[in-house]
Amino acid sequence: MKNTPFQNYLTRLEEAKEILNLEEKDIAPLREAEHIHQSDIMIKRDDGSDETIKIYRVQFNNARGPYKGGIRFHPMADLDEVKALAAAMAIKCAVVGIPLGGGKGGAQFDPKTHSPAEIEQVARAWSRTMAPFIGVEKDVPAPDVYTTPQIMGWILDEFEKTVGRKEPGMITGKPVELGGSLGRDTATAQGGVYVLEAFLKSRGEELRGKTVIIQGFGNAGANIARILEAHGAIIVGLSDSKHAYCRAEGLKVPESLADFKSEGVSIITNEELLTKPADILIPAALDNQLRDDNAANVQAKYILELANGPTTPEADAIFEQKGIVVIPDVLANAGGVTVSYFEWEQNRAGEKWSAEEVQTRLKPIMQNSFQALDELAKEKHLPYRKAAFVLAVKRIVGAMKAKA
Ligand code: NAD
Repeated sequence: MKNTPFQNYLTRLEEAKEILNLEEKDIAPLREAEHIHQSDIMIKRDDGSDETIKIYRVQFNNARGPYKGGIRFHPMADLDEVKALAAAMAIKCAVVGIPLGGGKGGAQFDPKTHSPAEIEQVARAWSRTMAPFIGVEKDVPAPDVYTTPQIMGWILDEFEKTVGRKEPGMITGKPVELGGSLGRDTATAQGGVYVLEAFLKSRGEELRGKTVIIQGFGNAGANIARILEAHGAIIVGLSDSKHAYCRAEGLKVPESLADFKSEGVSIITNEELLTKPADILIPAALDNQLRDDNAANVQAKYILELANGPTTPEADAIFEQKGIVVIPDVLANAGGVTVSYFEWEQNRAGEKWSAEEVQTRLKPIMQNSFQALDELAKEKHLPYRKAAFVLAVKRIVGAMKAKA
């Protein structure tokens, strides 16, 4: 049987412990979440029936700052997965050096089979139930799979009604009209591009002329396709959940992949897309896409993980053996949480930054974080993912020790 996402996290934690020569007492708090809040809520369906839905919030570690992480509305999101995602948030915030901890939450239902009014009831009940545990200096949620700025707006409104005060910084990824940050929509893709440029520079290479395959055409995938195209990269493959296209000589990034037709562009399967020749492969859709059964066929030289958890540990080992470099999710997609941090900062200071100011602040954080990781990876002869864990665990344990 394959390891669960949380077991994979524990394996990576153990490796970091050994490399850093830490004692068990140093690392023990990172083996389990600090708090898990779970409850059942009841909503009224549009047909008059009642439905009970399980909701949760995992608060993994707050040594470096308030818990931070998205809320997932998904029928399959179980506690093991949410705990692994919460732990990954603590690691991610530490890798980019922003003063936040790790958390994640969810509601176990399928928003695709629920009306907006039913989804709003879930959001508001989630907010009322979790209100005692969350807040601007405590735990700051955000969107995740199948949750939107609109849903963040409902959660904010219900929270403020429950606690009886204004507190826009209790949530990020909210609509700009409610205090959301400019640039949050493209932050994950833009942050990934800053990291990719720094990585290529460290190898004496540049983005212009590089061939790229991107899996997923949502917020992360479509935005990075457009930014890379504008930087002179050659997009040779694109996909969403229903379509996959490729053209070895390059294709023009369309508005939408539905009904995309262009001369010389072939329709292929999503599985084929991942193993086509290219310099750079960017998984930007789901977890668990690069596995022991397809990793050996990947032809790309570099993998930039915009999705969370697209590569299994088995695939990581195959890539290491083949000399394929993986730039891990905890750095590659950290532009999203970094601009969430900017949103939180703006709300706390009562400020509104321009889109240019957001970019000006994001770029050095992403580039310097890559630099620190690259130095550590070279010094200790580690792949970037292991180096990221070592860097993050050192910072989190350092914060825990400083308070002990
Ligand atoms: P999204 O819902 O906007 O887009 C997801 C895309 O993936 C869609 O185009 C969908 O069609 C496609 N997709 C679904 N199943 C697919 C399949 N089997 N094959 C190919 N494509 C498929 O989501 P998003 O916000 O772009 O998130 C994508 C990934 O990036 C997730 O893993 C998410 O956790 C991660 N991520 C996103 C952000 C962010 O700010 N949006 C931040 C960090 C990490």
